[in-house]
Amino acid sequence: MRKRGEGACLVCGRPIVYYEKARQMECVMCHRQFESHAGCEDGHYVCDECHGAKGIEVILEGCKKCTSKNPVEIMQELMEDPYIYMHGPEHHVMVGAALITAYYNSGGFAGDRARADYESALEEMKSRGSEYPGGSCGLWGCCGAAVSAGMFMSIVTKATPLTGKSWGLSNRMTAEALKAIGELGGPRCCKRNSFTAAAAAVKYTAENLGIEMELPEKIQCEFSGENRECLRKRCPYYKRCN
Ligand SMILES: [Zn+2]
Ligand SMILES: [Zn+2]
Repeated sequence: MRKRGEGACLVCGRPIVYYEKARQMECVMCHRQFESHAGCEDGHYVCDECHGAKGIEVILEGCKKCTSKNPVEIMQELMEDPYIYMHGPEHHVMVGAALITAYYNSGGFAGDRARADYESALEEMKSRGSEYPGGSCGLWGCCGAAVSAGMFMSIVTKATPLTGKSWGLSNRMTAEALKAIGELGGPRCCKRNSFTAAAAAVKYTAENLGIEMELPEKIQCEFSGENRECLRKRCPYYKRCN
């Protein structure tokens, strides 16, 4: 895995340079042409769409290799990948995918088909989570990290618009996560919201489905340096020793 580093090319690791005037650039992945103000010293450029698709691929592949029962730990590792932005809609897939993985590693998806069921749940999470737009926390009043926790609950309980108990569990899961996120206040932070949603889901899943996932003793965020709007001392995950 290429190391996460601000201003480093995702393809070759060289510094990113910014041009005064936008230039015609070709995406190294899809080969379409774009106008961009930035590229690496060697001229590499990755378009937003390819960047997002690659981020989601990183999430799914990372989850499948993971044996942790702790969704926060799973996310913290995924977040180190340079294809995962500080903030971005890939978190709407990540929260649910980390929860599905921790749930599987904690004994969810029992039976002979457990692995196959787990992998198809991840694919479903990718498809549903990718549909939820960025910025909805502020614009729709419903953060995508909370919705992602609700999608996790819906997928593992096989909820549909016509089911009974699972329908209620899924909507209440989103509500629990969203309430905890809302109480911390803005501005938005995809890291803070993701940790908060996952922690709410671990508690809710233990209470309602009897599957015990794990959480770190203390959640500590490594990303405050990358976030200009970080709440710092008002964020429960801020590392005070920084
Ligand atoms: Zn490069
Ligand atoms: Zn592209």
